[in-house]
Amino acid sequence: MNPRPGPCRHCGRPVVHDPQGKPILTSREYACRDPWGSLTNTHAELVPAVGRASVPGAGRRVTKSRPQSTVDE
Ligand SMILES: [Zn+2]
Repeated sequence: MNPRPGPCRHCGRPVVHDPQGKPILTSREYACRDPWGSLTNTHAELVPAVGRASVPGAGRRVTKSRPQSTVDE
């Protein structure tokens, strides 16, 4: 068995498994951190594989329509 890393369901950071099979962040911490680097009360936990495919709004693409100025000289 070769567990693949994935995003943490709490903080979205990459999660792997330690030798004991416990999920651990690639920063070698078990505790999650918020985007500002403060510890949170959650621990590294992989996103369940079943939930990955059906993320609401994942298939939506926003295309910016930028006015192009074509100047003929
Ligand atoms: Zn986390």
